[in-house]
Amino acid sequence: MSLYDVAVIGSGPGGYVAAIRCAQLGMKTAIIEKYSTLGGTCLNVGCIPSKALLDSSHHYDDAVKHFEDHGIEVPGEIKVNLEKMISRKNNVVDMTTKGINFLMDKNKIDVFEGLGSFKDATHIDIKKIDGTTDTIEAKNTIIATGSKPSTLPFITLDKERVITSTEALQLKEVPKHMLVIGGGVIGLELGQVYKRLGAEVTVIEYMDKIIPGMDGALSKELMKSLKKQKVKFALSHKVKSVERNGDEVTVTADNKKGEEVSFTGDYCLVAVGRHAYTEGLNLEAAGVQLEERGRVAVNEHLQTNVSNIYAIGDVIKGAMLAHKAEEEGTLVAEILAGQKPHIDYNLIPGVVYTWPEVAAVGKTEEQLKEAGVAYKSGSFPMRALGRSRASGDIDGFVKILADKNTDEVLGVHMIGARVADLIAEGVTAMEFRASAEDIARMSHAHPTYAEAVKEAALAATEDRAIHV
Ligand code: FAD
Ligand code: NAD
Repeated sequence: MSLYDVAVIGSGPGGYVAAIRCAQLGMKTAIIEKYSTLGGTCLNVGCIPSKALLDSSHHYDDAVKHFEDHGIEVPGEIKVNLEKMISRKNNVVDMTTKGINFLMDKNKIDVFEGLGSFKDATHIDIKKIDGTTDTIEAKNTIIATGSKPSTLPFITLDKERVITSTEALQLKEVPKHMLVIGGGVIGLELGQVYKRLGAEVTVIEYMDKIIPGMDGALSKELMKSLKKQKVKFALSHKVKSVERNGDEVTVTADNKKGEEVSFTGDYCLVAVGRHAYTEGLNLEAAGVQLEERGRVAVNEHLQTNVSNIYAIGDVIKGAMLAHKAEEEGTLVAEILAGQKPHIDYNLIPGVVYTWPEVAAVGKTEEQLKEAGVAYKSGSFPMRALGRSRASGDIDGFVKILADKNTDEVLGVHMIGARVADLIAEGVTAMEFRASAEDIARMSHAHPTYAEAVKEAALAATEDRAIHV
């Protein structure tokens, strides 16, 4: 039986990064993945394929709606070839997952394909697809088994017309009317893909706003922008039933006044969150405990109640984000190597890849108010930027929240073109505990969208933005 310093169960961004960092630090490492491709949710059915479709559908949308403004004339009708678009997405996924195989080889990590299942706290059975089982011994194990889509108790996910994000990435036709339950990240990103490709899209959300966890100003601006793109919203609606009848799906909900409302479409995307996935791990055999929401319970070192078993990523508490999982993978590897790493969870950015993009780091205005923190706020509209006018992407703004007394940046919230990339400046500033004035005094290249960050910082510092 092979003996490893570390076995990682699950090859998503948490697991594969943990394995690479362990190997870099000199540990003999194995990674176990039940599917035939590495990369987990993120690479196979999450971040990468959804961004590929967002990019493809964005190109189409530009061609149909915006090329003319730029003086580009396309002879004949511009058409979507969905099969080709999905096939390109599959190629992107294929290349990306193969890249992980390359990284495993390069770092001399043993890859086991099969379901990892604890025999006890130091032995793991790997149940292979051919019915045979390998067993390995591991001094330490990192559980990185991720998450699966959640649903509502009364919904039957037939995976044809009542679907999750996984099926929405593989549709064979553009829906006529896609009903989306949940106005969170998945609902809006994939809703926008199909809206651009020609579907009618109605988002049915339980709360009174979309992207409810983010700063309220971002939520309002995104909704305004998506409404301009003709996405329909039913907020404060409590979904009661989802019925499929042939090619038709009907969602029934109670609105704010308690009245019953029905929506009929041909597809229903259920995007009401995800839950930790521990099925098949046989955690009882190792004695690993779960917390009440089914997540693996860990302490501040991401160690479970069993001292040689750790857990990271979507399977534990916290934001379900690929980069959070990656940081945690690195942290555990470095702890195992005797180092003293640290993650500041307040500085894990959140991004929604709609267009306009939405990105944030640090505290929201609502959180600062609730905590009674004295703060000041500076905003700058994208439409005042030369760069925005040049491209035609004028929606959105950057808002910087800073401590009223010390001027330390407490939160950066942005919506607009390319803010998914701009948020890195907010993270860097906050990591180094910059003041708004620090950002305001730094030169930002002209003309760029990044100038909005400088201008918002100027507005937060002394209400002295230059270009508004
Ligand atoms: P996962 O990526 O879920 O990987 C877990 C792996 O463990 C899986 O491969 C699974 O097969 C394997 N596994 C489970 N049990 C076992 C077992 N017993 N034995 C062997 N293998 C097992 N996040 C972002 O940051 N940015 C985005 O743009 C983004 N877009 C997303 C879009 C969609 C549509 C979805 C669904 C998610 C998106 N996410 C995004 C979230 C992101 O995918 C997750 O946060 C991330 O994948 C979590 O990584 P992980 O390593 O914890 O788990
Ligand atoms: P989410 O938590 O972002 O959004 C779920 C939404 O569904 C919320 O707005 C919630 O209020 C609503 N909801 C819950 N129950 C409802 C009900 N009964 N009726 C109507 N609405 C209801 O979850 P998601 O969009 O499913 O995404 C799952 C996870 O995947 C998220 O945690 C997210 O972090 C991750 N993800 C991230 C990205 C990204 O980083 N860009 C993209 C996709 C997914």
